[in-house]
Order: sequence, then structure tokens, then C-alpha cells
Amino acid sequence: MANSPPIFPPYRGRFAPSPTGPLHFGSLVAAVGSYLEAKSRQGEWMVRIENLDPTREIAGVSGQILNTLQALGMESDSEVIYQKQRYKTYQAALAVLERQHLVYPCVCSRKEIADSTITGIDGPIYPGTCRGRFLHDQCPGARRIRTDNRLIQFRDSLQGLILHRLHSDIGDFVLRRADGVFAYQLAAVVDDAEQGVTHVVRGRDLLNSTSRQIYLQQLLGYPTPSYLHLPVVVNARGEKLSKQTGAAPLDVSDPMPQLMMAIRFLGQAPPAELIGSDVGSFWKWATEYWKPEKIPQK
Ligand code: GLU
Repeated sequence: MANSPPIFPPYRGRFAPSPTGPLHFGSLVAAVGSYLEAKSRQGEWMVRIENLDPTREIAGVSGQILNTLQALGMESDSEVIYQKQRYKTYQAALAVLERQHLVYPCVCSRKEIADSTITGIDGPIYPGTCRGRFLHDQCPGARRIRTDNRLIQFRDSLQGLILHRLHSDIGDFVLRRADGVFAYQLAAVVDDAEQGVTHVVRGRDLLNSTSRQIYLQQLLGYPTPSYLHLPVVVNARGEKLSKQTGAAPLDVSDPMPQLMMAIRFLGQAPPAELIGSDVGSFWKWATEYWKPEKIPQK
């Protein structure tokens, strides 16, 4: 019998933490938002550990993240996948793009790139110094993809219509670093497609990545999921919460106050007495009364 393609339910969402540090309130907001979007629509929710970069991964943190999610009542509906184990899959996707003559080796230093006089929406634009280089297997350097100025547009469910032209807004971007580490943009696109993700819900800090990801989906023949970019939590100095900005790890011994805070941050109005209940009752209330139209844009 011929293999039939897997049949996916109409909604498949995901949460994709990087194990560079324990979960903090900012990551909790992304987890809760993606979880409730999925669960309120009888969808599936999957966890993917984005540990592409061994130099940034902290030992033991992946397990800690999964334990924290479990303590908070959020469990992946399918086996957790780890990007570190999927290099062959990313290499195969890179080869597809190479066959389209869209990839070139780049030996420019970080400094040369940072010195670029053209700035795009996400920092300096690569000036294209290596664009003419011929690609062969043993070429040293990073692998970059050629961009063009076709219009890439999508309607984000919260942020509205987004229009980008990659060549002038972002520039040719890296798919695989010189040390062999695959770039987030490529890995996320390959994994979202392979996991049958229909809806991506994540922080607004990744909004500018989406057009790059749509470009790769188009070239690789993947469907484009729907996107919702949540507001990002900032500290008193206006910086995005992260390990670098000193965000405190979530306290799993007392989950309710943090879940209540996260859902309030997402514009929901839980009854105050819910704080005295347990995690199960929290999710029951939250799934039933989830109103995505109440999420603030910023
Ligand atoms: N790993 C990314 C992060 O922790 C999230 C990527 C995504 O959701 O596409 O910020």
C-alpha cells in the first residue's frame, strides 16, 4: 500500500523555547498565548526545543523548561522535538535551495557586515560582497540566501497587514553559519512544515523574521501558516525580558500568581478568586473564556 500523507487536525500550534536560560515571565506569555489559541479551538499544541547553537545552550535547561511547563499544566500533545538532532533535515532543505542557485558562500567577518552603511528593519544589511562567489561542497564560510525585492505580505491576526521587500528591508540572510550551525530562520521553517504547524503564535520581537520565513516556505514549497505576534513583556528600562536583561526564572512552587499575571497581560479578565484555585481549574476557565480580540497589540 502506498504511504498516505499524514492527516493533521485543523489547528496545530507550537511553543518553541531556546534553552539558553530557564523560562521567565516573557516566555510564559508566549507559552500561554500559543497554548490558549490552540486549546480554545480544540487544536494541538506542541513543544519544540530550539537548541541549534551548542555555544548558547545551557546544560540541563531543556529538561527544566519541560518540567516547568508541566508544573504549569501545559504539556506537549506530541513528542518534543530537539533541533540539535535534526541537522540532516536542515541540510536537505539547504540542498534544495542550493539547487535553485539561491545560496552562496560568504566569508565576510562580523565586523565587515556590521560596518555596512545600509541599515534595514533588523540591523545592517549585508552589502552583497560575496554574492558572486561560486558554491561547491568544500567552500569555507557561511551560507547566505539571495533575496529579491518581490513583495512579501501577510496579515498577522493581531498586528495587521505586514509588507516587506526582503532585499531592501533585510538583505541576503544566513542559512548556515561558518561553524556549521543552522540559522533559526531555516530550522523554524523546516520544523513548522514538518510538524504540520497551521498557526504560529509567538512574541512580536519575531515579527520581522516572518517575511524571511515566508520567503523560505515559498522556495521550499511549504504552506504558510497563519501568524499571531503577541505583545512583548519589557522591564522597567523598556528592555525585552530575557536572560541577558536579568529576567527572573519562573517559580514552579507557586504557579497560580504567574499564570494569572500572564493571562492578564494578554488582556483577559479572570475572576480574582481564580487565584485560589488549582492549575486545572485555571486552564478550564482560561480555555472557555479566552478572547483573542482582547489581546493588546503592544
Ligand atoms: N526560539 C525562539 C525564542 O525562544 C522562538 C522561535 C519561534 O517561536 O518561532 O525566542
